[in-house]
Amino acid sequence: MSETIPAKDGPAVTQATLVKKAAPKSDYKPADVSPQRRVQRSFAVRLWSIRHSRLLEWFYARFADMFLLLHPLWKGIGYGRVEGPITFVEKRVKGFMFDCRMCGQCILSSTGMSCPMNCPKQLRNGPCGGVRANGNCEVEPDMPCVWVKAWEGSQNMVHSDRILTVQKPVDQSLRETSAWLRVTAQAAAAREAAAAAKNGTANTGASA
Ligand code: SF4
Repeated sequence: MSETIPAKDGPAVTQATLVKKAAPKSDYKPADVSPQRRVQRSFAVRLWSIRHSRLLEWFYARFADMFLLLHPLWKGIGYGRVEGPITFVEKRVKGFMFDCRMCGQCILSSTGMSCPMNCPKQLRNGPCGGVRANGNCEVEPDMPCVWVKAWEGSQNMVHSDRILTVQKPVDQSLRETSAWLRVTAQAAAAREAAAAAKNGTANTGASA
């Protein structure tokens, strides 16, 4: 955040202005590129994903089903062996779509497709008290608050109430690992446990 320095005469100047003025002058000015424009461009895709959260929710459910269908393949090859290439793809796809920070415990389907790890305070259960009047972040004034956007995105989704689920703290040991594989392996384990329980009940019923 730029620090404002009170001037003796005239309007106050920010630290950023002083740094800019002190920078060496040169004739080279890259065309149409500024940190501000770059930031706005990166937000554009993120905000598109939030606006289309319902479509992405539908797509992600199909995608998760397909990944679960491939569980025998992942298991046959070994989850450890496929982790590298899958993580590589996941990082690039989700990085482009959501500015994903690869926390490894994805909750996009609960947060309206707005990644909470883009919050400078990395809050996973709603905004801090510092959201600006225009809905932007107090730490990064040019960035829309990820939680304001999360609420907007979640309200477009079929499971709009998932945003009310209380999230656990981030497990830092899972950083840079694949959430896609983790969710798939957990769903497969749950499915196998349910099938085993069903078989156990059937066997008990038959022997009774
Ligand atoms: S919640 Fe985690 S895995 Fe999901 S997009 Fe954000 S950083 Fe990536």
